Amino acid sequence: MELPFAESYRIKMVEPIRRSTRQEREKWIKEAKYNLFNLKSEQVYIDLLTDSGTGAMSDKQWGAIMLGDESYAGASSYYKMKDAIKNILGFDYFLPTHQGRAAENVLYSSILKEGDLVPGNSHFDTTKGHIEFRKAIALDCTIDAAADTQLEIPFKGEMDLNKLEAALKSRDKKDIPCVVLTITNNTAGGQPVSMKNIRETSALCHKYGVLVQIDGARFAENAYFIKTREPEYKDKTIKEITKEMLSYADIMTMSSKKDAIVNMGGFVAFRDEALWRKCQMFCVMNEGFITYGGMSGRDMNALAQGLDEGTEFDTLETRIKQVEYLAAKLDEYGVPYQRPAGGHAIFIDAKKVLTHTPKEEFIAQTLAIELYLEAGIRGVEIGTILADRDPVTRENRYPRLELLRLAIPRRTYTNNHMDVIAAAMKNVYDRRESITRGFVITKELPVMRHFTVELERAH
Ligand SMILES: *Cc1c(COP(=O)(O)O)cnc(C)c1O
Repeated sequence: MELPFAESYRIKMVEPIRRSTRQEREKWIKEAKYNLFNLKSEQVYIDLLTDSGTGAMSDKQWGAIMLGDESYAGASSYYKMKDAIKNILGFDYFLPTHQGRAAENVLYSSILKEGDLVPGNSHFDTTKGHIEFRKAIALDCTIDAAADTQLEIPFKGEMDLNKLEAALKSRDKKDIPCVVLTITNNTAGGQPVSMKNIRETSALCHKYGVLVQIDGARFAENAYFIKTREPEYKDKTIKEITKEMLSYADIMTMSSKKDAIVNMGGFVAFRDEALWRKCQMFCVMNEGFITYGGMSGRDMNALAQGLDEGTEFDTLETRIKQVEYLAAKLDEYGVPYQRPAGGHAIFIDAKKVLTHTPKEEFIAQTLAIELYLEAGIRGVEIGTILADRDPVTRENRYPRLELLRLAIPRRTYTNNHMDVIAAAMKNVYDRRESITRGFVITKELPVMRHFTVELERAH
């Protein structure tokens, strides 16, 4: 008999979580004004709000924390991080920052100016925010196939090279400070980018004299997909693939809360010494001195160790197989989601589930609340509430897709939890036709309303 797959770790420390009753959840979600961000974490049984900073560190990472050097300048922890970035990622220069968006802030403060164009494959929200805040343009050049949730292709997060070339031709290179290649493509559902596409994107940018920035929050998951889906890489190690992927980039920004499996941290890495020097001032001003930036020594130690573990095949296989395990269960129950399953999350296609809920009453939010009421599971709405109002007309913007994102934290839950999630989704799916009403907003802020919005049941 073929042996089944099992996790590549055993558990040394546990954190109790508690199931609640439907009656308790009815009360709590009402008190939270039907906004899942307002729930206390102990009111949640399985928390799939995000995979950012919610992973479980290893024994070696916790051990490294005890060895942290908190010297203001030149700490050994800085040099450990520097060695990891050099040896695993291949960059000579870097600045530590408190998380990914801070890396973007340090970088864009020094290279972006008003009116610039920054093409990319679906810029992540904070990336877009930092570009648009500087009155520059974040132009989406993702392949069209990414928008079709039921289409199964191996690399659904790629850059469309024709769109990119048109963008590069449209401006003088001095007005295109960089092109952002996000791996995996978070916004498109954690979808990967092939090595071929990374290589060709880089060649095209360099032909036009434009720098390539890799937003590498989930670079290791991307390397796993290259190994398992791009035939010529099947015998390469994740570390070899990582080195090659990043060799095509001039700059890397990193949210270490993702694939470096720490609770907080990030960095921006550079190939060019002069650019590193230019960015130092913004690191010192906004984050901290260049040998710690936004991080404590112990966290730099944990990050260095996390980069090593996060680029081991077994770690990635365990993680991605868990996401696929949940996807297979949802297939069995007929629950529709963005296909194929991404590296870090499942995106349920809420419009295909709640066909009787009007869009004006927030379809994906309604589904998120139903899943919470069903089993205490917290996902997040990627729909109309997140899309916010049009800045000019102040009307709600209705995106083409209403998604419920279920992000899976790294090394945190077991497949028994995945079974609970799938069963709860099935129960909601089975009673979908009875869910005819959603919610109305009673209070909201003018920007980023989803974090603090208050709702009540529509009737
Ligand atoms: C999370 C994320 C960021 C921002 O990182 P933070 O650590 O949350 O500030 C940037 N890009 C991508 C692709 C991300 O997933």
